[in-house]
Amino acid sequence: MDRPRLLLIATGGTIAGAAASADRTQGYVPGALPASALVEAVPALRGLADVVVEQPYSIGSQHLTSAHWLTLLRRLRAAAADPSLAGAVITHGTDTLEETALLVDLACDRTLPVVATGAMRPATALGADGPMNLYAAAATAVDPAARAAGAMVLMNDQVLPPDRAAKAHTSRTDAFVARDGAALAEIVDGRPRWRVPPAEAAARRPSLAAALDPLPQALPRVDLLAQHVDADPGVVDWLVSRGARGLVLAGTGHGTMPDPMRDALSRAAAAGVMVVRASRLASGPVNRNAGVDDDRWGFVPAGWLSAHKARVVTALAIAAGLDRDGLRALIDRY
Ligand code: ASP
Repeated sequence: MDRPRLLLIATGGTIAGAAASADRTQGYVPGALPASALVEAVPALRGLADVVVEQPYSIGSQHLTSAHWLTLLRRLRAAAADPSLAGAVITHGTDTLEETALLVDLACDRTLPVVATGAMRPATALGADGPMNLYAAAATAVDPAARAAGAMVLMNDQVLPPDRAAKAHTSRTDAFVARDGAALAEIVDGRPRWRVPPAEAAARRPSLAAALDPLPQALPRVDLLAQHVDADPGVVDWLVSRGARGLVLAGTGHGTMPDPMRDALSRAAAAGVMVVRASRLASGPVNRNAGVDDDRWGFVPAGWLSAHKARVVTALAIAAGLDRDGLRALIDRY
């Protein structure tokens, strides 16, 4: 029987990390191994799919820029138009994996399932988690139920939706959780056991694939600012002077802020900057006009999105030409 074709896009991270000895799980060089080494470490992949490997860059994902993202999106756009491919896997550093997964899901055609995975331990470590994550990600990407499921995150035997996947621990192998939700699937004996039909879950999420065709040459600047005791509202004007077209506040509690910060953000909104009100907390929604009068101050509430996911969505929405109402309606679908 013909095996499905799978595109593996290797971008670096700990899954391709190498340390001086097998007991080292923190001191290592991310992205040190070539993509071919990742595939060779998992001979069982050959039983799943014909794997085509590409490595557009190999970096720790804390170094990602939107230029890297656009390179990745262009490649995935082309892959989605290739009927010979059953799915794609992106190996990625875990630090910004959840942002890349949401970016891909919102900007790309969902016909090609894309599973983003990584590892918490470098490839040279005892008990490295990368090989099993890679195998399970490949099994998920070529699973017939994943067709039209868009982007997903595979970590530690769980398939997580791109809008909920969150790195919640700095070092453990069970670092990823589904924020305010459940996993789409658990991996059982190397195959996804779906709890939710993933294509149905994807159909409920918004898409900007058509609005972003062709892809822009660059993404608009959107900055994230965290609220804290004594936060300086002067940062808002400074960021706008640096060219910010969107600002996402990681507010205290339910997206709250002191009056001087609110006034600075409101002035920015009146000047045409997209201002999104999110929370610095690990879970829970930020609801419209709840506690803060979003409509009066010109803010868009982040709903169920974390602050850094709201930042990704805001950048793509501005690139797609959405106005404040358009962004609010988009966010409401998460
Ligand atoms: N700093 C690494 C990265 O995101 C961490 C990891 O991959 O787990 O690339």
